[in-house]
Amino acid sequence: MRGAVLHAPGDVRVEERDTPTVIDNTDAIIRLSATCVCGSDLWDYRGINPVSRPTPMGHEYVGIVEEVGSEVTTVRPGQFVVGSFFASDNTCAICRAGYHSSCVRRENVGANGAQAELLRVPLADGTLVATPEVPSDDVIPSLLAASDVLGTGWFGAVAAQAGAGKTVAVVGDGAVGLLAVLAAKQLGAQRIIAMSRHEPRQKLALDFGATEIVTERGDDGVAKIKELTDGLGAHSVIEAVGTQESMMQAIRATRPGGRRRPRLCHRPGTRV
Ligand SMILES: [Zn+2]
Repeated sequence: MRGAVLHAPGDVRVEERDTPTVIDNTDAIIRLSATCVCGSDLWDYRGINPVSRPTPMGHEYVGIVEEVGSEVTTVRPGQFVVGSFFASDNTCAICRAGYHSSCVRRENVGANGAQAELLRVPLADGTLVATPEVPSDDVIPSLLAASDVLGTGWFGAVAAQAGAGKTVAVVGDGAVGLLAVLAAKQLGAQRIIAMSRHEPRQKLALDFGATEIVTERGDDGVAKIKELTDGLGAHSVIEAVGTQESMMQAIRATRPGGRRRPRLCHRPGTRV
């Protein structure tokens, strides 16, 4: 089958790779309907992460189940499924607490390379969610967003305890930040302050439920959040950039006793 392989910074090749097969009884093989590039793929592409050997790429994916191992019970061949970037069993104590990306049995699906025709997904029962029916083509991009950025944004909003009556600030206006805005809205937040400098993204943030836009960054961004919140800071701050500066901005924009969820995605070398 064909798949994308990163050979060195800036050097991505679509080449023939071994066709994946069921290895463990809990695996599924899926035929990819859609896959995309994550911001974290760019860290490798730009050489921020070292690339020591040819590496299959991609961890955001949806597709049709082709084959399942003998212990898989919740998905079956022919179903359309949305997957996650870490495989998880959905049953261990860590998963039950809601931290699936730290599952005690977690496996990095991205190591198998979802930017390909076929993908082996470990722990299929815990990792794949089947849709009620095979969706039409126009819905597939939205379902693909549920494979990483929506789940990550939603997790950030829940972990930051965004909810009724809360003032929530979101640092970062990429896909994760925008979907954290959407999640905070769905969770009932009263005010949602999106920190964004890009006009098209500001518009999306407002569409998704942001009540205010802050364009300032760093010290000025923190001062603006304080100014909007009677000098207190936000109840909940979601950091969705992953740099040292944005993390410090998130921490300082949180009111005493508030909750922040930094490090949804973090750039290598960033210290918490
Ligand atoms: Zn688990």
